[in-house]
Amino acid sequence: MKSYDVIFIHPPRVLKPDNGKKAKSVRTSFIFIPMGVFAIADFLEREGFGVKIINYPLEQYLNPNWSLIDYIRTIDFKICGIDLHWIHNAHGAIEVAQIVKEVKPNTKVVLGGFSATYFHTQILKYYRSIDGIIRGEGEIPLLKYVQNIKQNQSLDSVPNFSYRNSSNHIKTNSLSYTAKTLDNLNFTNTSILKNAKQYFECSRKIMGISFNLPIGRGCPFNCPFCGGGQRALQHLAGRNEVILRSPEKVIEDITTIIDTYKVPSLFFGHGAYPANLKYWKTLFGLIQKEKLDIGGDLEIWRLPFPKEMWKIFYRTFPRRFSSVSISPRTLSTKVHQRIAKICDPTFKFPKNQIEDLIRNANLFQRTLRIWLTVGFPFQTRLDVLKDFNFAVKCMFKYGKTNSKPIIIMNEPYHIFPGSPAFDSPKSFEINLNYNSFPQLNEFFKQAKMSFFYNAINYDTKIFSSATISYFNKLLFLSTALTMMTTGNKSPEKKKK
Ligand code: SF4
Repeated sequence: MKSYDVIFIHPPRVLKPDNGKKAKSVRTSFIFIPMGVFAIADFLEREGFGVKIINYPLEQYLNPNWSLIDYIRTIDFKICGIDLHWIHNAHGAIEVAQIVKEVKPNTKVVLGGFSATYFHTQILKYYRSIDGIIRGEGEIPLLKYVQNIKQNQSLDSVPNFSYRNSSNHIKTNSLSYTAKTLDNLNFTNTSILKNAKQYFECSRKIMGISFNLPIGRGCPFNCPFCGGGQRALQHLAGRNEVILRSPEKVIEDITTIIDTYKVPSLFFGHGAYPANLKYWKTLFGLIQKEKLDIGGDLEIWRLPFPKEMWKIFYRTFPRRFSSVSISPRTLSTKVHQRIAKICDPTFKFPKNQIEDLIRNANLFQRTLRIWLTVGFPFQTRLDVLKDFNFAVKCMFKYGKTNSKPIIIMNEPYHIFPGSPAFDSPKSFEINLNYNSFPQLNEFFKQAKMSFFYNAINYDTKIFSSATISYFNKLLFLSTALTMMTTGNKSPEKKKK
């Protein structure tokens, strides 16, 4: 029997999707493993521990009859780590923990990730199958935990750790570890993932992205619905500043991934904004210098994104499988101004700068995705109507030809734990419908897997969650043509 010190299981949303084979391949099955899991698993391996990563939704996708129970009966392990980073995995993570405990009662089960961190006391209070939670950033804390368990030592010295002690009290060790650099971590040791090759192939097929490339940790901004912004990370992980990996390390990763899997494109796991454009220029310059032939998906987190950047992007990445995305959510300046006042003065997406992006995307023939939503805080019916009007105009102007690469995307949102709107819904004039962990566990158990995102957990003053869902579907359908005709179809060669 194969034996490991630690196995990591990426949980599904639900163990058995209720709507048959289709459900397995929809985006909402959340096949992506959080990027940090690879680094943590590799870190343990380099310290001499035997590790394995198992991606439950991937296994389920590859073989509908795959059974976690049967699989873990064939291996031996002492500790099981389950990522509960995105709240969508709330139900799946708890179910997987229960299965592991039932099949291997002596195994220690620990959770990690932002959502587990946010709800650490509630999870330990209500779910006995969880032995502990690594809060915030995990590489050193998990290593220390594994060492202490192996040597039968007390857990009070494990940083960032919450657990139930022998008297059944919840103990919360201090949040004393936050990484100072990421350059000692390896994010591409994919040999420790079961079915790694299929993971990259299916990620592209199901999620539209082949490989998520870690660039840094932290974010200087505070978008209303995001649980990974500056204040959330300060609170959850003790992270006070953004750190970026050295461009040379990122290049090493790209080379490894291209050599091993021949993926067509990379998604950069950190966005572009005025304060870090120099970093992107250096990185893109190195990609050109090394002649790495791969597409790139880059997000713009804050404007402006000058013409010079478009030119560099154009020179670095082929048109095929490359894109730039921006998420103003709405084009209403009034809405942006109110958000800016409450939670983030940099939340500005002026229409003239969006128009500049459109102009430059057309000039340099690179796909631009503009993400909108219906149901953003403070959005009025008139704002929504104007956004529809903008989207439909774009559809008519750019939607019929492959040479005009503007795509209007939209999706309803989930308000993530730790986000400004989750922590202070009244300031955003919204009503949060589920805010305790047991409620969210139940919510995600019930939420059907579907093509359209449906895990909406709030109502605004004007729109109920049902209306938000309905109008987002309508907006999606109104602009679907831009998705079908633009972007990836032309295999145009890079011009130098
Ligand atoms: S959504 Fe906003 S706060 Fe969250 S990571 Fe992106 S830019 Fe930062």
